[in-house]
Amino acid sequence: MSNDHDHHDGNDDHELRVSKIRDGTVIDHVNGGQALNVLAILGIDGSKGEEVSVGMNVPSDRLARKDIVKVEGRELSQDEVDVLSLIAPDATINIVRNYEVIEKHRVERPDAVTGVLSCPNPGCITTAGEPVTSKFEVLDDAVRCVYCETIVRDEIPSLIDT
Ligand SMILES: [Zn+2]
Repeated sequence: MSNDHDHHDGNDDHELRVSKIRDGTVIDHVNGGQALNVLAILGIDGSKGEEVSVGMNVPSDRLARKDIVKVEGRELSQDEVDVLSLIAPDATINIVRNYEVIEKHRVERPDAVTGVLSCPNPGCITTAGEPVTSKFEVLDDAVRCVYCETIVRDEIPSLIDT
């Protein structure tokens, strides 16, 4: 048997889990079940040899269950963080360098996102072949197309245009 039970300091355990990567980004406190959508937003499907670890439905203080995504060798752009905030509004972005978290912040939901989601309404001017870029107003638990006022909630991941 190992002596795993000997370390009883929960905080350190959490920090350890977060900082296991060397250089990159840990996206913590992702709503349970959204990790694969986070990877999709980041354009990560494993085909380019990306080094990624994913924890799904891990017990969490802040959320009942959370996902955690660790991406080696990558820091996220503001655009990526904005889109992430739509499906993971409680996420924490940890920037890791040389195994240490050097920066940590909660995502902030932007007032609006432009050009990142496709409107699901086939009659919307943004999907009718007109040169109009999609724009969605960000609400508390959904987004709303500013052109046709279609409200999108659960389908957000499938409408991301990356
Ligand atoms: Zn629309």
